[in-house]
Formats: sequence, C-alpha cells, structure tokens
Amino acid sequence: MYVLVINAGSSSLKYQLLDMSNENAIAKGLCERIGIDGRLVHETDKGKHTADKAMPDHGAAMAIVIDTLLDAEHGVLKSKDEIKAVGHRVVHGGETFTASVLITDEVEKGIEAVSDLAPLHNPPNLTGIRACKQHMPNVPQVAVFDTAFHQTMPEKAFLYAIDYELYKKHKIRRYGFHGTSHKYVSNLAPEMLKRDAKDMKIVTCHLGNGVSLCAVDGGVSVDTSMGMTPLEGLAMGTRCGDIDPAVVQYIMEKECISAQQAGDMLNKKSGVLGISGVSSDFRDLCTAANSGNERAAAAMEVFAYRVAGYIGRYAACMNGLDAIVFTAGIGENDCGIREKVCAYLTWFGVEIDPELNGKRGQALDISKPNAKVRVLVIPTNEELVIARDTKAILKF
Ligand code: ADP
Repeated sequence: MYVLVINAGSSSLKYQLLDMSNENAIAKGLCERIGIDGRLVHETDKGKHTADKAMPDHGAAMAIVIDTLLDAEHGVLKSKDEIKAVGHRVVHGGETFTASVLITDEVEKGIEAVSDLAPLHNPPNLTGIRACKQHMPNVPQVAVFDTAFHQTMPEKAFLYAIDYELYKKHKIRRYGFHGTSHKYVSNLAPEMLKRDAKDMKIVTCHLGNGVSLCAVDGGVSVDTSMGMTPLEGLAMGTRCGDIDPAVVQYIMEKECISAQQAGDMLNKKSGVLGISGVSSDFRDLCTAANSGNERAAAAMEVFAYRVAGYIGRYAACMNGLDAIVFTAGIGENDCGIREKVCAYLTWFGVEIDPELNGKRGQALDISKPNAKVRVLVIPTNEELVIARDTKAILKF
C-alpha cells in the first residue's frame, strides 16, 4: 500500500514514496529548477540517481517523477496503480482548514481563497495538486496543512493587539507553521517517556532554516512562535523573527526602499545571515566563530538566547514544563546550540548529559537521570505525518 507525498514549491517539487505496511520510505527525491531548466535527484535503496531533464512546468516534473518511480533501473514500482493515494503538503489553511482533508474541487477553491495569506507557498502547492490530478486522475489526493495543528490555539494566543476589525475583515491573526513537525515530535515524546500526552506540557523546538517553537499542553498546540506568516518569532537562517514593527517604516525611510524591498530584506537577508554576514547555515557559522569571527559568534548567541527566552515564556503560559524537544536540521544535529539553550534553563530543572548530547541520528532523552524537565532530541518526519493522515482519511 503506497502513498506518494508531494511538497511543491515555486521552482521545486519534493517527493517521497512510503510503503504504509511498514511506514518505510522506499524512494525519495527532488525536482528542482522547474521552469528554468530542470534537474532530478532520486534516491532508493539502489543508490542515488541524478539527471538533467527539461521541466518547463510542474506537470512535466510530475511526469518525470512517475517515470522514474516506474523506471527499470532506478524505479521501485511495476505499475502506477500501486500508488493508492497522494498526500500534499499545503502551507496555509487559514481558519478554513483545521485538519487534513480529501481534496475536492471545493477544497481547491478553499486553498485558493486563503492564498493571499501565503502568496509564495499556496499557489505552488496548488500547482502540485493539479499536476498530480493531471497524471493520476483516479487517485485520491489529500491536503495536509502546516497551519492545521495550531488551530487549537486560544484567542488570547492568536489575536494581534491591533484593531479587531482587521482580524474580522482580513483574517489578520497568528496561525503558526511547521504543524506536521510539531505534531509528530509532540506525539512521540510522551511515548518515549512512557507518559500520557494528556498530562504533559511540552515545548517543541523546530530549529531548521525556518525556526518555530510550539507550546503543547495535553497533546494540543496552545501557542506557537510563527504568526500570520513564517516571519514572526525566533531569529532564523535568513528571517528576522520578532522585531519592533516601527523598524520596518524606519528602514524604508532611511534606505529609500519600497515595502516589497523591506519585506525581502526581512525575509531573505536577516536572521543569523544578517547578523553574521557569513551564512545562514549553522555549520558555516560554527566554523567562522571558531576561527574568531565575532559576528558569527554573536549570531549564534542571539539565536540561542531567543530560543531559551521563548521556552521560558511558554513554561509561564502553560504554567509548567515537563519536556523540551529539539528537532529539524539544527535541533537534531547541533549539540552546541542545544547546550547553549539548555544552559539558560537550569532554574526550570533542565540538566543535560554532555555525553548523550553528543550523540546523533536517533531519538534520545539527553537529560541527566534526575533532571525535572526532560530534554529530548527527536528526528522529525513530516512526510510520515502527511502519509499517515492521508491513509487515515482514506481509511485503507
Ligand atoms: P528546512 O527543512 O527548514 O529547509 P532543515 O531542517 O533541513 O531545514 O535544517 C537546515 C539547517 O540545519 C541548515 O541550514 C543548517 O543550519 C542546519 N544543520 C544541518 N546539519 C547540521 C549539522 N550537522 N550541524 C549544525 N547544523 C546543521
């Protein structure tokens, strides 16, 4: 029973084929430079296969994905009919979508209707859905939203302190993102600790290129650091996160730039890249800091300070804290950042074991045996959440 998971971006299409009898990914890959020239990277047990192939649009990229999955040399399927369903990552569900749904014409219209809230993401997500419908018209498709997990947030967490009419008129409020990742790791943490999710207060830290924290109380999201867009919250690779809103107008006036240019600056040239001037990648920052680059060191300090600050805030908001989970590229791999963050939190009862913190690649409790707050590292698996939701909706 195979589920194909699709994550379509503006010029890329990531895919993963999962065998749901054992939840293993049997093939995964990426079509990139769609609309420019086109390049395929495809991986299976047999190895990695890369090829330059013309991909004028997402429809062409999808045809290449299917051909590759069926290919005698690099493929894993005998027939297209073995794909029972397709699960799509959709970034923004607005207030319309509070859970994953079977895609119908009505749902497509609903995704289109909230596209204003994520103009860079929802239109390519829809393009991916349409490309799959074109090539697999009889295969059911499911949409899984990054925002859905956070729809349980109470009003006090999602309202901005602006004119309420703006919320009513334009749906300007906090939504949150990375929902599939926060859901996956917050489900796994109680299992690892042999505790009931209903009795746990957890802060999940998704630290990747995009960074967001989520307060999970009794198994549901009660607050998260990203807002109406993924720009709010922590300092990220290239995004500024929380900033005095007056700074935006000030930069526009001082630098003589448009609102569009200011938006680009805050999304693409800020965060740890902006502070360091070196890179958005923590491996580069670490190398630079170790060779004496003070701005790179400062960027890492700002990053860790803010993560720790948000954890403290969420401990207050939930009136308790049982566990912290680190996940995604930085959260899973960067033991130095985990150490820096946890060093701020000893007052809460956080104490990590340096040796366990040095391990990699597996789900692990890295706390000292008697530490009050457990600290876990859990590799995230967003594709698996999408495939599981797809299977659950289609009841196979
Ligand atoms: P996204 O899915 O948001 O694109 P990832 O979760 O893959 O991002 O995280 C990517 C980031 O993880 C990289 O930019 C880098 O900063 C960080 N990263 C990946 N591997 C390591 C590592 N071994 N050590 C430190 N940081 C790492």
